[in-house]
Amino acid sequence: MKNLKMDNIRDYLMTNDIKPSYQRIRIYEYLMNSYDHPRVDEIYKALIDEIPTLSKTTVYNTLNLFIEKGIIHMVTIEGTEVRYDVDISDHGHFKCDVCGKVYDFKADIVEIETNLGESFIINQKDLFFRGICPSCSVKN
Ligand SMILES: [Zn+2]
Ligand SMILES: [Zn+2]
Repeated sequence: MKNLKMDNIRDYLMTNDIKPSYQRIRIYEYLMNSYDHPRVDEIYKALIDEIPTLSKTTVYNTLNLFIEKGIIHMVTIEGTEVRYDVDISDHGHFKCDVCGKVYDFKADIVEIETNLGESFIINQKDLFFRGICPSCSVKN
């Protein structure tokens, strides 16, 4: 996966028409280094000590801006559990029923055949599997 440093994140945000404020850079950086598709709460808790001026609303608005500009995806894994994904390539998600960890897997989502027909406009395709991950199945 991409491994951008602070300066590169600044450039990356600017390339995508996003004003690179310190908070935005740090939020993007956190997403990049987090492999578990964090929720708003997790991002907020992880950054609040370093950025005391940060509010949950700022985190939320920043994430929405990133989505609007197409540099992250929103992933609805179960019900109302909204998570954020910095990996915008086509991939599916596997959630472990035991530890709750969300794994990425490669999948040719674009090639999936449906009977929706041409009158449906598809904006996003999600592929979601559930089960037990290797580290949890070893323990049982
Ligand atoms: Zn597990
Ligand atoms: Zn993902």
